[in-house]
Amino acid sequence: MQERRFPAIWRSIMPNPKRRHSKSRRGKRRAHDFLPTVTPGICPNCQNPKPPHQACAKCGYYKGKQVMEGEEEY
Ligand SMILES: [Zn+2]
Repeated sequence: MQERRFPAIWRSIMPNPKRRHSKSRRGKRRAHDFLPTVTPGICPNCQNPKPPHQACAKCGYYKGKQVMEGEEEY
């Protein structure tokens, strides 16, 4: 006797995927899931690495002037 994993009635009342998606298809879907690596910038004021387009966390400088308080005060 053949073993059934679910009642046959489900085929008619429940929407189910007909086939399992392949590993290749799953991989293609997840190809965009990663976060892009951010190229680190260097603060021209204190030479510390900082994320681009953001004020330096160390000295609080952005575009040559202090825009917020950093860890170190000068
Ligand atoms: Zn800095």
